[in-house]
Amino acid sequence: MSNDISDGHVKIPTTVKFTKLFINGQFVDSLSGSEFETIDPRTGEVIARISEGRKEDIDAAVKAAREAFDTGPWPRMAGAKRAKIMLKWADLIDQNASELAALDAIDAGKLYNRCKAQEIPAAANMLRYYAGAADKIHGEVLKASGEFHAYTLMEPVGVVGHIIPWNFPSNMFLTKVSPALAAGCTMVLKPAEQTPLSALFYAHLAKQAGIPDGVLNVVPGFGPTAGAAISSHMNVDKVSFTGSTEVGREIMHAAASSNLKQVSLELGGKSPLLIFDDADVDKAASLALLGTVYNKGEICVASSRVFVQEGIYDEFEKKLVEKAKAWVVGDPFDPKSQQGPQVDKKQFEKILSYIEHGKKEGATLLYGGKRLGDKGYYIEPTIFSDVKGDMLIAQDEIFGPVMSLMKFKTIEEAIMRANNTKYGLAAGIVTKNLDIANTVSRSIRAGIVWINCYFIFGSDIPYGGYKQSGFGREYGMQALHQYLQQKSVVTPIYNSPW
Ligand code: ADP
Repeated sequence: MSNDISDGHVKIPTTVKFTKLFINGQFVDSLSGSEFETIDPRTGEVIARISEGRKEDIDAAVKAAREAFDTGPWPRMAGAKRAKIMLKWADLIDQNASELAALDAIDAGKLYNRCKAQEIPAAANMLRYYAGAADKIHGEVLKASGEFHAYTLMEPVGVVGHIIPWNFPSNMFLTKVSPALAAGCTMVLKPAEQTPLSALFYAHLAKQAGIPDGVLNVVPGFGPTAGAAISSHMNVDKVSFTGSTEVGREIMHAAASSNLKQVSLELGGKSPLLIFDDADVDKAASLALLGTVYNKGEICVASSRVFVQEGIYDEFEKKLVEKAKAWVVGDPFDPKSQQGPQVDKKQFEKILSYIEHGKKEGATLLYGGKRLGDKGYYIEPTIFSDVKGDMLIAQDEIFGPVMSLMKFKTIEEAIMRANNTKYGLAAGIVTKNLDIANTVSRSIRAGIVWINCYFIFGSDIPYGGYKQSGFGREYGMQALHQYLQQKSVVTPIYNSPW
């Protein structure tokens, strides 16, 4: 495909250069020769045909990763040398940010400018953060009984399988591979079938940076075939998954019934945002709208349940609707757009059917609810009021720009209703009152709580789920430790008694 993309004044020529599987340092056709189409959600048209990885291709990729782990240089290399290669890769990503952003925009409908200015630089910085840790991985000397010298070694866990979703193709890719690389693991990554393009480009840049062959393999394909082949593989030591709670459950089953590989899961959410009477109403309404419609609502921490205290509720509702009316949905390459199209037809139809369901359940459609235009998968920011906690729209993860707005009286009631969900990924609080902020942040069962902000992520802020939002942590040193295992070594100080 060749495409001219407007970047303000500059025209960026974008060609989809990489469409094959990346195994053992080479771009190769799938063994079956089969391909699948990746679609542009702005139009519903085909962008490119991609080699489709299946079980036999995953086997080949795992074999390459296994050899690279068992006999290759990467796990044995000095941490500082691994870091140098990772830093070079990060620089290459920065240099290619325009092209990578264009790929995520055409493949996932993400805003081009935001990808280029924020998401891709943040993804490159993930590599830099973990490169900084690569030469600081060590065990400790233990206080064993006087007869013995004992210490621990921190060793890479082995061959890792990463299975990632389509909503943040760049960020997810680097979130998974950066700590695993720093730890000395080798890996097979399966991007989501909706968004394989940037993943293959990252693989190309990794090779250019000097990541040895076999260390990083990228195999596009579908979940029940390629994904399941990873989670049930006897030679994969750990699987790290981000996606839906339903698929997370299948992955755990597959891991348990194969080789008991280690599992970490970052799953769905239905995150509450609690806004108290003392909040600045205008700012709170902006935050609530952004929390719901950022990245078209295709973000697992979306503040899809907004609870507002009764004293400011009416004013809040009015401001929220005004802001939703002014929110610009449009082509992701247009710098004025604040929201692009949903990722594909399936998600688009799923979101619209939830909206219909919300109306039938008796919620009031305050704003939006319709598709925009007659081409592509654009949906208006949508706000429901009069939502009851047990309605489907208040319980299910919709993964679209749809807010359930609810009124509350007391702090205790707000906490109880906010926790009335099977998920526990994130939460937000808006208040100037420190007592409320402290009480609520400690009472909400979620892996991250934002006070007077939302969506603040960083390589150094651990992030992950409570309850059915999963377990394990991304980012921070916690993520690095998920790719390490501890070995204790014990030796007699004096002559062995045996
Ligand atoms: P979504 O519903 O948002 O598409 P999924 O959880 O279905 O999210 O997909 C996330 C990732 O999991 C994708 O890469 C997808 O291909 C993969 N996947 C889907 N089903 C399975 C499965 N049964 N086993 C392993 N991976 C799967």
